[in-house]
Amino acid sequence: MKAFAYLSHGQAGWIEKESPAPTGFDGVIRPLLVSPCTSDVHNVAIDCLAPHRILGHEGLGEIVAVGDQVRDFQVGEIVVVPPVTPDWRTVPSQLGAHQHCAGLITGQKLSNSEDGLMAEYALIRDLDANAARIPPGVSREAAVMAADMLNTGLYGAQLADVQPGDTVVVMGIGPVGLMAIAGARLRGAGRIIAIGSRPAGMALAQAYGATDLINYKEGDVERQVYQLTRKQGADCCICAGGGPEALGQAVAMVRWGGTVGNVNYFTTYGDLPINNVRYGFGMGNKTIRGGECPGGRARMEKLLALIQYGRVDPVPLITHRFQGLAQVEDAFRLMAQKPPELVKTIVDLSL
Ligand code: NDP
Ligand code: ZN
Repeated sequence: MKAFAYLSHGQAGWIEKESPAPTGFDGVIRPLLVSPCTSDVHNVAIDCLAPHRILGHEGLGEIVAVGDQVRDFQVGEIVVVPPVTPDWRTVPSQLGAHQHCAGLITGQKLSNSEDGLMAEYALIRDLDANAARIPPGVSREAAVMAADMLNTGLYGAQLADVQPGDTVVVMGIGPVGLMAIAGARLRGAGRIIAIGSRPAGMALAQAYGATDLINYKEGDVERQVYQLTRKQGADCCICAGGGPEALGQAVAMVRWGGTVGNVNYFTTYGDLPINNVRYGFGMGNKTIRGGECPGGRARMEKLLALIQYGRVDPVPLITHRFQGLAQVEDAFRLMAQKPPELVKTIVDLSL
């Protein structure tokens, strides 16, 4: 089969590979709709994948084969899968850390330790436990945007422990940050201060619930947050963009006892600059919680329910649409370039 994969040394391109065959609990889908993630771009750039690893972990497809232990799904059904499709039969999974089912960040198999969705066919581990049907009233595009973007943005709000009435800062207004804004609103946030610069993101940030916008390219963001909050700081901050310095700023701008929820993928190493004493707050008395978005069928079904019952619509995230497997490359490269009008790309493979 034909697939778009990591090659080596920061390069992605086309390869030919054997089609997967399912055994046991696993299934094979024919991807019909896929979306490149900023994490795919990061993974290629920092050379952390095995050569010829097929990219893509946001998508849905038609089941074309199932293993002999699959009970709930049949060939021909359309299913959406989250990026994290773990092995649920391990001790970390039983302890509630399925994202780390076999060690740190091993739950995301698609496009990390195993081949992803940017191909003619893709293997899905433990289909009954990891795939979800798309309920009535939910479009295929919405289902794909739920898998990783709504999932991770909402998880950021959960990690930041957003409480009703809270003042929340969201660092980053890419697709994840925008869904973090929506997630903060769903959890009852009062004021939501969004930080970014891209015009497309700024407009959507307000639509998803941001009450204040700060352009990080136009001045000191910590100072602006302290001014806006009358020197109190925010109750919590969701980090969905920027480098380590942005996490340091997030720590500085939350009040005593505040929580930072980080879903950002840091691609540079080094010390986190979190000893900021400018506002009288260092790292002490604050909590940083970070992580990989949850996976599995139950999480996917909850996310789809948010869309089905009109709580959030992630489709406006999609700013660029492509058609056909060959255009996966264009969609991926655009996600790497990040022009001002871009939020998220999607590719229809069904044609
Ligand atoms: P984008 O690159 O589209 O958006 C990043 C945002 O961060 C942009 O709005 C950007 O600003 C903003 N930003 C950049 N630098 C700073 C800064 N110094 N201070 C404040 N904001 C800044 O990324 P995505 O939304 O697609 O993804 C966000 C992150 O989440 C990525 O690192 C991605 O890899 C990660 N991720 C993590 C997942 C998980 O499971 N934990 C799952 C999916 C993604 P501007 O408006 O100027 O572009
Ligand atoms: Zn992702």
